[in-house]
Amino acid sequence: MVLNELGSRINTALQNLSKEAAIDSKAVDALLMEICKALLESDINVKLVHQLRTNVKKSIDLDQLASSANKRRVIQNAVFEELCNLVDPGVEQWKPKKGKSNVIMFVGLQGNGKTTTCTKLAAHYHRKGWKTGLVCADTFRAGAFDQIRQNSSKAHIPYYGRQVYSEVDPVKVASEGVKKFKKDKYEIIIVDTSGRHKQETELFKEMEEISAGVNPDNVVFVMDGTIGQAADAQARAFKESVDIGSIIITKMDGHAKGGGAISAVAATKSPIVFIGTGEHIYDLERFAPRPFVSKMLGMGDIGGLVETVRDMQLDKTHKNMFKNISQGVFTLRDMRDQLQTISKMGPLNKLMGMMPGMPPELANSFSAEDSSRKIRQSMSIFDSMTEQELDSDGKIFETQKSRLDRISRGSGVRPFEIHALLHQHKQFAQMVKKMGGNKGLLKNMNPEM
Ligand code: GDP
Repeated sequence: MVLNELGSRINTALQNLSKEAAIDSKAVDALLMEICKALLESDINVKLVHQLRTNVKKSIDLDQLASSANKRRVIQNAVFEELCNLVDPGVEQWKPKKGKSNVIMFVGLQGNGKTTTCTKLAAHYHRKGWKTGLVCADTFRAGAFDQIRQNSSKAHIPYYGRQVYSEVDPVKVASEGVKKFKKDKYEIIIVDTSGRHKQETELFKEMEEISAGVNPDNVVFVMDGTIGQAADAQARAFKESVDIGSIIITKMDGHAKGGGAISAVAATKSPIVFIGTGEHIYDLERFAPRPFVSKMLGMGDIGGLVETVRDMQLDKTHKNMFKNISQGVFTLRDMRDQLQTISKMGPLNKLMGMMPGMPPELANSFSAEDSSRKIRQSMSIFDSMTEQELDSDGKIFETQKSRLDRISRGSGVRPFEIHALLHQHKQFAQMVKKMGGNKGLLKNMNPEM
């Protein structure tokens, strides 16, 4: 079961509890049975699932709670807390220090997304104003250096490495790269290492030697989120060889079940710091247990939303949009402006998934593989609208069909697809209307408000 389905299943089970006439131990058992079944189907280790069940049961004392409403709240909170505990090793996340060179070494098996994630993380720090450089010490895979060179050039991040024409010593390349960037006072130095060798023992030996050579401040273990039950053994093997400080789980956009990620936390006692959610350079989301669980259950992630919006360069267009949203209004023009921004940032579903109250199905409706094609199509639709239509709430299309036909001819998009866009806008506008009074949230996102 993939993560979104897991969230919906748990959510439904919790909602069903609200429909129960009496909340007794039988109702709690049924709820826990459904939740545990969903967790097991997501490849979460049976021991961890059993632990969750025991902990939830231990933390609720039905006899002590008088009203049903109280019982529901306490049970829901207990489930929420235990889900957070699954992805929280209780260790503080490593943070780079200003005024020094922070060396971050990446480890993980080949194909897990290590090289891609190195560039994503470098771009993340670069965007935040840290002087960042990348070192490619993966001298085993011939294409690794080219991959780093192309991606870093696109993101304007300096890199260090060698073309693999002949035997190149990865420890030497890593040490040289780190030395050079340190000399030039780089604040974040990310070192990519090899993820494959002729023999596994050689891979781990090389990792240890690179680690000794570059003396990393943080070792990031990169793991593919789709590998399921195999995650436990893989994470353990890496942990035994190097001192893993952080985990990044990749491919959480696809068919990741989430169980693997949870096993990696349990096996390494290290926190997940980011998750990879696509192949694009911006497809890296900061991870924190509570917002993650909250988002998974369709309850939004205010912190993530605030950070993402802050990362965008706000211009006048957005300020108008915030003004509108603060008044509970979301016009078609607002949707167009948002799509325009987001097409530069990555898929829309990410931002939408962070919105409190956003149904996961709606957020996911934007996550289709062809989301960029969808955005381009939506832009053609908006481009065929008049100023009056753009500033409207879209209702004029319900009463005047000729407008829709005109837009269809102008944009070359079939009417049912225009309908779908208007429907999405309507759902979003309804949600914004509900959020309209939440000035605190909007103030956080828009410093000018
Ligand atoms: P490495 O061998 O560990 O360095 O792996 P790469 O960085 O070369 O990635 C292997 C493949 O996974 C590439 O096709 C990447 O585009 C893809 N990939 C990496 N991260 C993600 C992610 O978060 N989501 C998706 N969908 N693909 C990813």
